[in-house]
This record gives sequence, structure tokens and C-alpha cells, in this order.
Amino acid sequence: MPKGKIALVTGAGQGIGASIAIEMGRLGAAVAVVDINLENAEQTAASIRAAGGQAQAFATNVADADQVKSLFASVMEQFGGLDILVNNAGITRDGLLIRMRDEDWDDVLNVNLKGAFLCIREAARIMSKRKYGRIVNISSVVAQMGNAGQANYCASKAGLIGLTRSCARELARRQITVNAVAPGFIETAMTRDLPEKVRDGLLAMIPLERLGQPEDVMRSVVFLAGEGAGYITGQVLEVNGGMHM
Ligand code: NAD
Repeated sequence: MPKGKIALVTGAGQGIGASIAIEMGRLGAAVAVVDINLENAEQTAASIRAAGGQAQAFATNVADADQVKSLFASVMEQFGGLDILVNNAGITRDGLLIRMRDEDWDDVLNVNLKGAFLCIREAARIMSKRKYGRIVNISSVVAQMGNAGQANYCASKAGLIGLTRSCARELARRQITVNAVAPGFIETAMTRDLPEKVRDGLLAMIPLERLGQPEDVMRSVVFLAGEGAGYITGQVLEVNGGMHM
């Protein structure tokens, strides 16, 4: 990732998103650190600046179209462009299908899928003019495998793959690549509270015999966001320890 690129990472206040934002900052990109939790976004931005990088925190709910519009306007005002977008913000509202509330469905689809659409729409307008762009969407292994108790989450993450491929086709002539990274089970706040039994069950399904770390995902995202991945678009890179092949 050459110096001088401008990157926006959503959900960058903690976990995988923070790891991506910090690495991009370390590699010389100016980073818009976006999260619904401003305090956490500020912390990520501060650690990028402490390491000598350039970063600015933004409080945005990616599911809110007006907030997303003003986010991209502010980024343009403060950074003057955008080269890389990482749609990483995501939530879970797990529950068995017959007990799943409408809000649980709507909240997850709105943040995980609509949020990515809203950000891509804004980013595409900017990137199209510059005839350059790298968009990476964070999907999940469960998009392909399904998971009991996660109908809403799996639908949102599978939707992201369709969104990725459509946008890849639509934006290719502007030299904008759009790819997805589908992580397996990664040790973050999202998975930390898994019961011992569930964790052991998962481990038994992972040929590499360990849960992933945020850095495992980060490295794939940085690769797809970099110059070297310019001929890769519409792809899903699976980072799951072999759990799904
Ligand atoms: P996390 O919960 O640690 O971090 C998610 C971040 O997104 C948080 O900082 C949160 O505040 C932010 N966020 C939530 N809703 C938001 C909104 N509406 N607008 C802006 N920001 C919002 O989770 P994580 O494990 O780091 O997950 C990051 C991404 O990776 C998610 O999309 C998740 O679905 C995906 N993923 C995670 C795993 C895993 O095992 N941890 C596996 C596959 C995919």
C-alpha cells in the first residue's frame, strides 16, 4: 500500500477493523477510522498517529444513509479523496428462526448489508472520478456454510457476496476492484463469549486447529486493498483455517 493512499475502514474501533486500520496507517495510508462508537474510533486513530501515521476518527452509524452521506463529505473535505474502502462494521443478533424478532432481522441486515451498500454507493461516486479504487467487504464463512441460530447474519453475509460481485462488474471499467474476505472464527469480542463446548466443537472443524486472529484477516484485506491485487476483482478470499474449502 503506497504512501499517500486514503483509506476508510468501518467498524474500526475494535477487533478486525482496528487491526486493518492500524496496519494501513503503518503502511503510510491516511486513514478515516469510522465506528458507531466514537471513543473506540478515537483510540484507534490515536494509536495510528502515535506510530507516526495520519488518521481521523468519525462517529457514524453505517446503517443510516444521511450519516453515511455526511461521513463521505467530511472525508472528502479533510482528506481530499478516497482510494480504499473496507466495509467491516458488523453485528450479530443470534436466535433460532422461529423465535427471531423482526428487529433482529432488520438490525443485522441494515448494518451488515445495507451499511455496505450505502458506503459503496458514496465511495463509487468518488472513486469513479479518480478512475481508481479498492473496495473490500468483510463477509463470513457462514455465508457459504450456514449456521443454526444465525439466519439473519448468514443472509447478510451471503448478500454481501452478491453485492461484491455485482459492484465488481459494474465498477470494473473505472478500475475499481471489489472483493470480499470471508473470515472463519476469529478471536474478537464477537466470539470471545462462546461457551467452552461450542468453542471445542468449532476447533474440531478447523483443520489448522486454532481460531483465527484479527491479524490473519487483516493481512488478506491489506493485500486486496494494495497495488499488487489490481487484477483481482469479484472474488471471495476465504480466511478460515481450512474450515470451508
Ligand atoms: P467486533 O464486534 O469486535 O467489531 C465490530 C465493530 O463494528 C465495533 O467496533 C462496532 O462498534 C462497529 N459497529 C457495529 N455496528 C456499527 C454501525 N452500525 N456503524 C458503524 N460501526 C458499527 O467484531 P469483529 O469480530 O472485529 O468483526 C468485524 C467484521 O468481521 C464484522 O463484519 C463481522 O461480521 C466479521 N466477521 C467476524 C468474524 C469473527 O469470528 N470475529 C468471523 C467472520 C466475519
